[in-house]
Amino acid sequence: MKTPGFNFRPVDQAIAERVIVDSVPERAAELREIWAKYDLQFAVVSDSLKIGFRSRGKVIEFDNKTMRILWVLAHSAWRMFVCYSPHVLLALATGCSIDLEMMQRDQGLEKARASFEGLLYVVRNAVAAQSADDVAWPLDLPDPMADRSSLSAEQKAVFDLAIMATAYGFLHEVQHVMFAKDKNAPPRRPDEEIACDVFARDFLLAKIDSYAKTTSWSADLILMKRAMAIALGAFFV
Ligand SMILES: [Zn+2]
Repeated sequence: MKTPGFNFRPVDQAIAERVIVDSVPERAAELREIWAKYDLQFAVVSDSLKIGFRSRGKVIEFDNKTMRILWVLAHSAWRMFVCYSPHVLLALATGCSIDLEMMQRDQGLEKARASFEGLLYVVRNAVAAQSADDVAWPLDLPDPMADRSSLSAEQKAVFDLAIMATAYGFLHEVQHVMFAKDKNAPPRRPDEEIACDVFARDFLLAKIDSYAKTTSWSADLILMKRAMAIALGAFFV
């Protein structure tokens, strides 16, 4: 059944802010300054044949279909990691490069590969759909609206990956909003896109050391987690 149609629904600013602050707590004060200076606002818009985040003036827009696709992509990225990380670790431990023979010795490879390829198939169909309601979403994934505390450790890792990739997408759009208000965007659109990617990436990475001092996580582990989210977010953007 289709959900009732709507064009534009403002998002509680506290929720949008938490997506970024929870992903990069060490930059909370700077983020709040930007938020106040540029009066950032977020809104959910109707699904369409497009996907992704958009900015219009000071409003950053996204839709339900985009968020569902990002959720499935986060799960498929995790399954890819599970599928191929044994080969990467083995190659690192032995100094050998990953070759066909190493892959052939892995009895579980085909099953692991099928598990993320199935999700990518769903993503391809979803991208082409008009609405999230038209998509047969995978039944074996947790509900994207589930309470994080109710998830398994592995599901929590994917949840964090999806939130951080969303933060990357939001931050990319934040830079578009700043450029628009300050009227200082690079003249060529591709250069503006690169500048927005650089802003989002640096916001997530530049002050990891100061965050690491406040947690039990090492800077390397935080970097690894955020780099994975940036890869997913950049792919998505
Ligand atoms: Zn952009």
